Amino acid sequence: MYRPSLRRRLLAATLVLTAAGAAHAQEQVLNLYNARHYQTDEALYANFTKATGIRIQRVDADDAGILARLQSEGSASPADVVLLVDAARLWRAETQGLFQPVKSALLEQRIPATLRGQDQGQGSAWFGFSTRARVIVYSKVAVNKADVDTYEELGDPKNKGKVCTRSGSHPYNVSLFGSMLQHLGPEKTEAVLRGTAANMARAPKGGDTDQIRAVASGECQIALTNTYYLARMMRSDKPEDRAVIEKVGVVFPNQQDFGTHVNVAGGAVARHSRNREAAVRFLEYLASDEAQRYFADGNNEWPTVPSVKVANPALASLGAFKSETIPVATVGKNQSQVQQILDRVGYK
Ligand code: FE
Repeated sequence: MYRPSLRRRLLAATLVLTAAGAAHAQEQVLNLYNARHYQTDEALYANFTKATGIRIQRVDADDAGILARLQSEGSASPADVVLLVDAARLWRAETQGLFQPVKSALLEQRIPATLRGQDQGQGSAWFGFSTRARVIVYSKVAVNKADVDTYEELGDPKNKGKVCTRSGSHPYNVSLFGSMLQHLGPEKTEAVLRGTAANMARAPKGGDTDQIRAVASGECQIALTNTYYLARMMRSDKPEDRAVIEKVGVVFPNQQDFGTHVNVAGGAVARHSRNREAAVRFLEYLASDEAQRYFADGNNEWPTVPSVKVANPALASLGAFKSETIPVATVGKNQSQVQQILDRVGYK
């Protein structure tokens, strides 16, 4: 009978420990450049690590900061996956060559073609994982809903002195105006934006939430906001937020024609990723039922995978609506033309 000596047994134990140590050293890490800053996303990353053993290492910045960083890092960039929160910025990053196209049967099957980057044969460069609508809010006491139920009416003389928005060249507005350019054509869009700039109650400033507050306080009467900012205030436990919501009406514009503009938050594999397989796996994970719920609902958005439903009382209270059907990538393509129009009409 073979009886290993104590020494042999110790040696064997050491070998096992060394092997474990080596496995640990090879632990796979995915570098995520992330423009999303929501608490619920933590659970998303933790679940991915639990399912795959791949650890997520995050760099947090805003869209513009991430693009600048990817540019300056070039081929030395450690980035594997990039998450951004606007279609115009996703498109820009794609055209700057910061992403690599991904061919994934799962992503193609789960994410509608209109909500991802255009496939030029090698797959899409980015994929939308949640949607938000850009809606009009108005003062319930000062404005009739019928006077603000299209984007065009933001520029109508009847709304003179009533409008407030964040900067015209903020990506959320550039994407909206890029959508209008697609639906209305350049002349009409320019006229609407010229009118909108002339209708301002104050010079553009602040974020979307500031515009909602300004409508409630009476500083202006009509504003633009993404739906999640509204939903966030609706769900707030601060009485002052609820009081603001009481005072404003919400309209999904252009229900009789092209539908309300919808933007995406989305993700891509970084151009110089050395972990392509794991990066694709992460994007595919974001399209899973579970991740879709976290990703969308965590920021009061809608999932892009049509079969996934979220139970979000604030979003539900806004009601069903007709959204535009143009590919969200076209708003990216239109952005430089939009910027020229904004410069011409003085909408800063
Ligand atoms: Fe935002």
